[in-house]
Amino acid sequence: MEWETVIGLEIHAQLATRSKIFSGASTAFGAAPNTQACAVDLGLPGVLPVLNREVVRMAAKFGLAINATVAERSVFARKNYFYPDLPKGYQISQYELPVVANGHIDIELEDGAGNMVGKRIGVTRAHLEEDAGKSLHEDFHGMTGIDLNRAGTPLLEIVSEPDMRSAKEAVAYMKRIHELVRYIEICDGNMQEGSFRCDANVSVRPKGQEKFGTRAEIKNINSFRFVEKAIDYEVERQIALIESGGKVVQETRLYDPDRDETRSMRAKEEANDYRYFPDPDLLPLVIEPSFIEAVRATLPELPEAKRRRFVSEYELSPYDAGFLTASRELADYYEAVVKAVGAEPKLCANWVMGDLSANLNRDGKEIGDSPVSSAMLAGMIKRITDNTISGKIAKEVFEAMWNGEGDADAVIDKKGLKQITDSGAIEKIIDDILAANPDNVAAYRSGKDKLFGFFVGQAMKATQGKANPQQLNELLKKKLSG
Ligand code: ADP
Ligand code: MG
Repeated sequence: MEWETVIGLEIHAQLATRSKIFSGASTAFGAAPNTQACAVDLGLPGVLPVLNREVVRMAAKFGLAINATVAERSVFARKNYFYPDLPKGYQISQYELPVVANGHIDIELEDGAGNMVGKRIGVTRAHLEEDAGKSLHEDFHGMTGIDLNRAGTPLLEIVSEPDMRSAKEAVAYMKRIHELVRYIEICDGNMQEGSFRCDANVSVRPKGQEKFGTRAEIKNINSFRFVEKAIDYEVERQIALIESGGKVVQETRLYDPDRDETRSMRAKEEANDYRYFPDPDLLPLVIEPSFIEAVRATLPELPEAKRRRFVSEYELSPYDAGFLTASRELADYYEAVVKAVGAEPKLCANWVMGDLSANLNRDGKEIGDSPVSSAMLAGMIKRITDNTISGKIAKEVFEAMWNGEGDADAVIDKKGLKQITDSGAIEKIIDDILAANPDNVAAYRSGKDKLFGFFVGQAMKATQGKANPQQLNELLKKKLSG
């Protein structure tokens, strides 16, 4: 039988506020355990939560960025359950009335024939909630430690429609959301630190059947690669289970990257097990239209729009535009280079996507830490376009700039890399080479065209690669045919 996969993701994005969602305690990562949880985060008797305005601003910004409705009235609810890292015995979340509803985001996937195909993924809702603490199993023998620093950290839970049909689509969607939350500066996107993680809901159904199959929910996946592997594993497991006469049960599973498999954690709670009810300590969240409009005015150019503009304004391919807009910082860097060069956007793109990105990757650096600034790269590209250096020599110049040897002009000067564009000088070099290799000249003239490369190589060797390649080619052709 042919099976179809159905996936819906619940993404938890930690909002990049300095203080918690309902208290003034710090959200900074990495503090000593239990030094950043105050009485409100712990739910000690007699305290009252106060909503952080910044959290509302960020949720609204996200809602606007995915073309969703930002609710003028939403409600905080208590989700009741017991767990050692949840001292209050309930989590403050939103249930029936979330702050953001009915949005969407577009993904693109390669169709196998080299074409990019777009697909729209619905975002059912995004709601505000507080994070719980963290259980620490590793440092304690036979015991579990509890660190409550994270309790009360603001989260935006972004719930998709079950619109994805493959692990690849799920990853593409997760990447788009990840890109977006960083663009609009509501989340640092740091997946190692747990600032961006997801639960994947996965089911399968016979192809052509309308009704969804029973889903399993794989919890807390914190890398794109693991999302893809966990879903692929889970799909195989469900198909094998059904085909051997079994039934998928609705449950929560955990992905184990070491063994590349998912394991059952617990049977899935129904919503009514949580006894959701409106939190009596918090008023409904009312957002004035003027607040929403003020937030709208702070929206930057979004990735999608930037990609389209890069294609039309700089005549880049969709692939190049996608690469260069993957983060706002990289896009800004690229545009600064183009502006400073004043021409050749494609050449600028090649350098940013080529040598610059390769070096950043190699040295594990972010664009913000690049030793070669946009002004330095632009300065070097100008020396290519004005024929001071060839593209090949430029690689040497770039490496020197990367290693802190100064800007392009300083490097070219110090290392004597200026290209030879004096055609008299190039002719002289060619004459010497032809005179020293009469056999090869004769062979070339009798039809061995491939020897052309030999002469180019000899000339480049004689000039340490500094002969202007175009001039060299032209003069060499002329002399060899004469
Ligand atoms: P819960 O809050 O109990 O996890 P929801 O109904 O809010 O349940 O759904 C959570 C996620 O599961 C959503 O992203 C939704 O798209 C997805 N989902 C719902 N049903 C299925 C299904 N049969 N197969 C795959 N995903 C599903
Ligand atoms: Mg869920």
